[in-house]
Amino acid sequence: MTRTPSHFAVFGRPIAHSRSPHIHAAFARQFGIDIDYRRIEAGRDDFAKQLSVFGDAGGRGANLTLPLKEIASSACSLVSPRARRAGSINTLTRSDDGWLGDSTDGIGLVADLCQRHQLDLRDARVLIIGAGGAARAAAAVLIDAEIAELVVANRDIARAQKLCAEIDPRGRSIACDFDALHGRDSVDLLINATSAGHSGQVPGLPTTIVGKTTIAYDLSYGAAAQPFLSWAVTADSARQIDGLGMLVEQAAASFAIWHAVQPATAPVYDALRAEVGFFA
Ligand code: NDP
Repeated sequence: MTRTPSHFAVFGRPIAHSRSPHIHAAFARQFGIDIDYRRIEAGRDDFAKQLSVFGDAGGRGANLTLPLKEIASSACSLVSPRARRAGSINTLTRSDDGWLGDSTDGIGLVADLCQRHQLDLRDARVLIIGAGGAARAAAAVLIDAEIAELVVANRDIARAQKLCAEIDPRGRSIACDFDALHGRDSVDLLINATSAGHSGQVPGLPTTIVGKTTIAYDLSYGAAAQPFLSWAVTADSARQIDGLGMLVEQAAASFAIWHAVQPATAPVYDALRAEVGFFA
């Protein structure tokens, strides 16, 4: 008797570059689970239709990437508290009542920072650059990780203010634009959550926010991480880390939601790292 594989997919535009099918296939092999995980190109205009077609064809779960994470709640019958708080959905799970929306980006980031890179976030002074979906997910988990201070700086300050107000109603985080970073002390952890690197750009930041012990983390990886991490080297940061580990960890968290088993991430990360290369 032949088993029918379960259907999963990652939706986004552009999508051809996505490594999610390889990552999920590697996780599935660890447990002998038969999955069919494909890329589906969809933007804001055609996402609802594409998701409906996927669901009707037996789709059980989906990951979402740009530009869908912040608009996907309209396709969900239920959204998890952490995804609601982050205002961002990257994982959909089919239920009898419709799609359940969740966000694993934040836990992927913390797993990479704390487990793979052995960072202690307690009492850390953290600066996030950017205020999009990934920055929101990162800010939410960092606030919960007992950090000492969170500053969110964005080109469009209104977006940073909205993020801080919605994610941190107790008002401990500070929103600002890049100009306001001049004169601020250096931070322990500097996270680039902008998409500037995808067009080869670095946000215009003062190097004074980087000290001898500052760890610079770019959520993107590969060529997109090079501009910011190169800038961080020039600014004399202690370490530079790209978002490849976060990518694998957020995928593992999605996999655990769908299959109720926790995959080993180290071998998958190592294989991907060999392909992507180290930041140089
Ligand atoms: P969004 O489109 O939601 O947000 C983009 C952010 O980048 C905005 O804050 C925008 O500022 C800012 N920005 C864009 N261009 C520039 C520029 N030239 N200078 C300064 N700021 C700029 O994207 P996401 O939040 O979804 O993704 C952000 C990054 O995180 C991407 O590189 C993505 O690949 C990465 N990512 C990595 C993941 C991983 O698993 N490793 C998971 C999720 C995301 P403004 O508001 O002013 O327009």
